[in-house]
Amino acid sequence: MNGAKAIGPIPAEFASGFPAEQWIAQAGGTPLFVYDFAVVAARVAQLRAALPDSVEIHYAIKANPMPALLAAIAPLVDGLDVASAGELEKALGLMASHAISFAGPGKRDFELEAAIRAGVTINLESEGEAERALLIADRLGIRPLLAVRVNPDFELRGSGMRMGGRASPFGVDAARVPALVKRLIAAGADWQGFHIFAGSQSLDSGAISESQSLTLALAGRLAEEIGASPPLVNLGGGFGIPYFSGDTPVDVEGIGRALAFQMERLSPMLAQSRFAIELGRWLVGEAGVYLARVVDRKESGGEAFLVIDGGLNHHLAASGNFGTVVKRNYPVAVATKIGVEPEEIASVVGPLCTPLDRLADRVALPKTEVGDVIAIFASGAYGPSASPSAFLGHAPAREMLVGTANP
Ligand SMILES: *Cc1c(COP(=O)(O)O)cnc(C)c1O
Repeated sequence: MNGAKAIGPIPAEFASGFPAEQWIAQAGGTPLFVYDFAVVAARVAQLRAALPDSVEIHYAIKANPMPALLAAIAPLVDGLDVASAGELEKALGLMASHAISFAGPGKRDFELEAAIRAGVTINLESEGEAERALLIADRLGIRPLLAVRVNPDFELRGSGMRMGGRASPFGVDAARVPALVKRLIAAGADWQGFHIFAGSQSLDSGAISESQSLTLALAGRLAEEIGASPPLVNLGGGFGIPYFSGDTPVDVEGIGRALAFQMERLSPMLAQSRFAIELGRWLVGEAGVYLARVVDRKESGGEAFLVIDGGLNHHLAASGNFGTVVKRNYPVAVATKIGVEPEEIASVVGPLCTPLDRLADRVALPKTEVGDVIAIFASGAYGPSASPSAFLGHAPAREMLVGTANP
C-alpha cells in the first residue's frame, strides 16, 4: 500500500494460515510465543543433509532455552552449547556431559566448579579463566575438559554481530593461543580443542564459507605451533534468518558443499579431529510466532495505532532494540485475518510507556479491531529470554511448543 513500510518475509510454514485462536485457548491467553517443533526438526534435517558427515550440529541454547523445546531438540543434535551455570543446569541430563560445552566471558568460580564436576567442556575465554579452572580442578581432583575459545584474526563479513578480527572480550587472541594450550596440556588437563566463533546473523553464504575456510586454516596453524591435534574444532555458526524486507535465506546446501571441499584439504594436524557447527537462531528462529491481542485502537496525527497486550518487555528484538541499528519491520500479520487484503496503514505498539515500544512501524494491514490478534513471525530466537520482562511489571509472555519431529 502507498506509504506503508515494508515488512520481512513471513516464513512459508505460517504464510497460509495457522490456528492462532486455538493455540491461544490451549495456552490460556495472550501474549504468547508459540514454537512449532516441526519447523525446528525440518531445519535440523536440512542441515544434516547439507553438511559433511564429519561435522556435528550443536545447539546454542541461549537462542531459546524453553525447557520443552530443549528436551525436544536435544535428541536431534550432537551437542548443546551453554553460557552460564543456569543454562548448564537446563542442559545437564538432556545430553551426555562431554557433548555439552560452556562458553562465555566472566565465568565465576562456582560456574567453573559446576562445569568441572559435571564433566562438560569449558571453552576458556582468557588465560586468567584458564588458571582458575586449573586450580579448581586440582582442588576437586578432577581432570578437566578444557578447550580454548580463539579470538580469530579475521571477522565474519556481513555479520549482524561481529565477534572477531579486533580487540574483543570473547576468546584469547589467536597469537597467544599456542602458549595457553601448551600450558593446559603441561598442567595435565584434557585439552578438547578450539572454539572459533567469528560472528552471528549473516545471510551471506559466501562470507560464511570464507570464514569457515579461514577458521580451518587457523586451527591447522595453531595445531602445528602447539604440536598437538585438537580433538574438536568448533567452527562457530553465524547463520542468520530473514527478518527484514529484501532478506533471503542462507544457502546451507552451498555452505555444505564448500565445507566438504575444505574437508578434503585439511592440514594433516586436523586429520583426526571432529568438527562442529553451533547454531541458535537458524535452528529455532523461524519456528516461533509471537501472538498478542489488540487492546486498543486509536488515531493520532492522522495515523492509526494498534495497541497490543505485549511489547518490548517480551520481544525486544522486534522493537529494533536488540542488536540492530536501524528500525525495520519484522514480518507481521493480523492472525485473525490471514489472507484478507490490506486496507489501512497502522503501527503496532506495546503497552509500555516508552516510544521504543513499537513492534511494527506503519505497515499495511487489513482493517484491524480491538480483539484481533497480531502475529509477529521469526520470533523463535532471542525472544522472552532476551527481553527486559521486569520492565513496567507486566506478566511474562506465555510460551508453548506445538508440532512434533515426525509429522
Ligand atoms: C550466541 C552464540 C551462538 C548462537 O548464535 P546464533 O546467532 O543464535 O546462531 C553460538 N555460539 C556462541 C559462542 C554464541 O555466543
